[in-house]
Amino acid sequence: MHYVFWFRKDLRLKDNHALSGFLRDVSEAGSFSFLYIKNKNTFSYFGEKRINFLYECIESLEKDLSSYGFKLQVLEGTSKEVFGRILEMHKIISLYLNEQVEPYCISRDRYIKEIIESNGGKFNTFTDSTLFAAGSIVNAEGMQYKVYTPFRNQSMKVINKSHYGKYECDLSLLKKNNEVILNSAEKFDYSYNGLSLSKPGFIKGGRDEGIRLLKEFYENGLNKYKSRRDFPSVKGTSLLSPHLHFGTVSIREVYRSAKYKYDKSGTDDEKSEIQTWINEILWREFYYHITYHNPQIQFESFKKEFDRLEWNDNEEHFKSWCKGKTGYPIVDAGMRQLNTEGWMHNRVRMITAMFLTKDLFTDWRKGEKYFAEKLIDLDFSSNNGGWQWSASTGVDSQPYFRIFNPYLQSRKFDANGDYIKRYLPELKTLPAEFVHEPHLMNESEQKKYNVIIGKDYPSPIVDHKSAKDIVLREFKKTSEER
Ligand SMILES: Cc1cc2nc3c(=O)[nH]c(=O)nc-3n(C[C@H](O)[C@H](O)[C@H](O)COP(=O)(O)OP(=O)(O)OC[C@H]3O[C@@H](n4cnc5c(N)ncnc54)[C@H](O)[C@@H]3O)c2cc1C
Repeated sequence: MHYVFWFRKDLRLKDNHALSGFLRDVSEAGSFSFLYIKNKNTFSYFGEKRINFLYECIESLEKDLSSYGFKLQVLEGTSKEVFGRILEMHKIISLYLNEQVEPYCISRDRYIKEIIESNGGKFNTFTDSTLFAAGSIVNAEGMQYKVYTPFRNQSMKVINKSHYGKYECDLSLLKKNNEVILNSAEKFDYSYNGLSLSKPGFIKGGRDEGIRLLKEFYENGLNKYKSRRDFPSVKGTSLLSPHLHFGTVSIREVYRSAKYKYDKSGTDDEKSEIQTWINEILWREFYYHITYHNPQIQFESFKKEFDRLEWNDNEEHFKSWCKGKTGYPIVDAGMRQLNTEGWMHNRVRMITAMFLTKDLFTDWRKGEKYFAEKLIDLDFSSNNGGWQWSASTGVDSQPYFRIFNPYLQSRKFDANGDYIKRYLPELKTLPAEFVHEPHLMNESEQKKYNVIIGKDYPSPIVDHKSAKDIVLREFKKTSEER
């Protein structure tokens, strides 16, 4: 039997569930290999910043494996092709991997399982990227939760060490001589897309960096999370999302840190700050469950009736939104943060997504795709969940009649315009009075602050009030057609 460990969204050697199973099972005499598959088809829709982040994670994993004397073998091709090649070399293999719930991964894994098992091998999957196994949190009738709050309550009720306990992974137990270098193992080509690892992005990849962010947040952010998380000019959140996506930090490490601090904290206020962060982690769990039960959301609105909406197809508006040139400063700042850093603050993700789907009445799928191309932390379930929440088409989403007013959001969460000015330098001379709605300046004010509307900064591409009326009418009509 040849044992293969396949790294996917779990790019670390510590507290890795499948890896602990692999290390337990590889027999004294068993040969083994560590695999990562570089699939060009998947990489083709990754943005540059995401690829850079991923490369940093792979480099860090290679380094960690080599400190034990082992090699990460990066094979290029589709998973089908790669396993076809491996099975020619080793007819019977035992494969270890952590489960993925994304619809396209489920069908891929089903195929790999079949070809391995039909050759007499074994396919061993484990739960690792979430605290709870896919589909395991159910209501009293054994059905999926379609509302977040009862899902969260049930999760908090049942959670125990079996969900967040540490999986020991001691690679020194493996015998160096038993490692097999797969014939076709190529040297990993870091030059893909002309990228080089010498250009660190806004959030840097790799295990050390993930752990550094977790420690920093544990010490300086966690007990102020609830009070600070909604203000995009402040570093009030953990920035762990890409690390959680690629698994450089485990969700159990994250949960254990929060629980430890929660249990140690003396006041109800401090506990409430920390619980708010745990609740966000449970939103992630909720959306993974939703994907698992409802794979059709890859293409369809969760609330199917809203697929009858006749969305606008105004390409000019969509382009203005993508470029951050809508004339709504908070929206434009968010989109420029996304375009330059590959990340966007959660509050601003909600504002920009709500603006695209409501003010511009554009199909959420277009925004979801644009975010997918740009985000370092792209995660199918959270991205789809966030988009459908904002579009009011999703599970437990914002009701369609509660439309964010971008100006009020801006005044409330970026009162002085610090965030806006960081990404829109053309507005840096404006006082707080005008920074949220620069088009309200008269001619002499525009001259005084050196911001000419229509030249230095666009006037709003739509009028919020009229756009809102249209959206309400369309959603109402569609809901009544049921
Ligand atoms: C339109 C839209 C698209 C989004 N796309 C993604 C995406 O592709 N990938 C992604 O990881 N998150 C996505 N989110 C959720 C959220 O914006 C990010 O998880 C968060 O901004 C990441 O920053 P952080 O790590 O500092 O989060 P923190 O506030 O520190 O939260 C800790 C962790 O909890 C999880 N989390 C926090 N908020 C949410 C949420 N609302 N939904 C699900 N999980 C959450 C994340 O894993 C995050 O890293 C999206 C939200 C919206 C509204």
